[in-house]
Amino acid sequence: MNLVVVGSGYVGLVSGACFAELGSSVICVDSDKEKVRNLKNMIMPIYEPGLEELVNKNVSSGNLKFSDNLQKSIQNADIIFIAVGTPSRPGDGHADLRYVHQVSREISENISKYVLIVNKSTAPVGTVKQISRIIKETNKEINFDVASNPEFLREGSAIDDFMNPDRIILGVESERASKLLDELYKPLSDNDVPIIYTNHESAEVIKYASNAFLATKISFINEISNLCEKVGADIKSVSKGMGLDPRIGDQFLKPGPGYGGSCFPKDTNALVKICQENGVSSRVVQAAIEANSAQKSFMVNKIRTTLNDLNDKKKITFLGLTFKPDTDDMRDSASLSIIPTLIDNGVDIRAHDPQGLKEAKLYLPKTVKFYEDVYESIHGSDAIVILTEWQEYYELDMQKVLSLMHSNYLFDFRNIFNQNQMIEYGFKYFSLGRKWKF
Ligand code: NAD
Repeated sequence: MNLVVVGSGYVGLVSGACFAELGSSVICVDSDKEKVRNLKNMIMPIYEPGLEELVNKNVSSGNLKFSDNLQKSIQNADIIFIAVGTPSRPGDGHADLRYVHQVSREISENISKYVLIVNKSTAPVGTVKQISRIIKETNKEINFDVASNPEFLREGSAIDDFMNPDRIILGVESERASKLLDELYKPLSDNDVPIIYTNHESAEVIKYASNAFLATKISFINEISNLCEKVGADIKSVSKGMGLDPRIGDQFLKPGPGYGGSCFPKDTNALVKICQENGVSSRVVQAAIEANSAQKSFMVNKIRTTLNDLNDKKKITFLGLTFKPDTDDMRDSASLSIIPTLIDNGVDIRAHDPQGLKEAKLYLPKTVKFYEDVYESIHGSDAIVILTEWQEYYELDMQKVLSLMHSNYLFDFRNIFNQNQMIEYGFKYFSLGRKWKF
């Protein structure tokens, strides 16, 4: 089957490479000419484990190509996937659909035979019907179908998530489109991956509802974690005790500095807007958003109150800047709100991240000092803040870490270390959801 995937970011590039691996002939299109030039030279635009190898393999086999020319690329396409960004619209939190609309217009001007257009971008209810309207307005003759196929891959494990998904959601309202998607996903359905066929609107709601539910679960456990600290409970036991109930489940029950990333913040805001527009309350999601923002401030306050006087040019090293490990994605990471606030308080910030430094330099204030070497970043610091649970940090020689520091404060906002062990080493150790032993 001939596929075109428009947008070669985290979703488009991973989907394109995986579809090629599953046997389709794929062209990944992007309007960013430099990105396409780099991809043709096997330079990946993102860090995602296993991606470079998968792309390499499928380019070599001839199944995967890259182009910045949408018009030429879609001539023989059976299916065109739209996988462009849908960021928050500045000012009002709505999903910004300008890229989706632009691609829809470009497609409509350049198709001459039947094609199925599938939206993989996360977009508000009604977007797939809008795409259909845009195409009909420009090109009355053309025979086409539209479908919604929201993506659930997670950065850091994107390839495995795509190849072994929990479910595939197909918002599809024509038999012809349904057959094409059946054929496309046959290698996965043959592996017992459940496929849910539904209408366009339900598929669109499933994506937002899933992300909002997960964001709510994180905000919920963060508040429970804050309670644990006050009352002498231990969040690890509490999460375990809760998670053994299959109605609750054991995932997403770890406290942290507040969720971030390219999806939860923008998708929760967009869902609130969608509800508002439809005259429906979204109190639970709004509370999750507020609790998340409060959690980030809470982290700053923990540091501020523990270190007493931040104006005294305290040196703090942040370990981990990305919103989660195994990605270089900095979008809406907790580091982006915590670090600038501390800088405003006079703190001298040093930072390390195994993969995110290039991106972090674009997003964080110029006064932050970035280090490639983790031990160098710690040298002379008063405090360390673990913000992202990269494997490298679990493996640190903590005695060496302590010997390099000027003082001994360790804020473990991912609970990666054992409290008693850190105290034994001589750290003043602060984690989340358990009583501090000071
Ligand atoms: P991204 O920003 O990494 O990539 C988007 C790409 O689209 C960019 O390379 C950009 O140059 C390209 N693009 C924009 N306009 C274009 C045009 N007119 N023609 C061709 N290319 C164009 O975005 P992403 O993280 O891959 O997200 C894409 C969509 O998938 C979003 O709606 C997002 O919410 C959703 N999603 C993302 C994830 C994730 O983990 N990143 C997971 C599930 C769903």
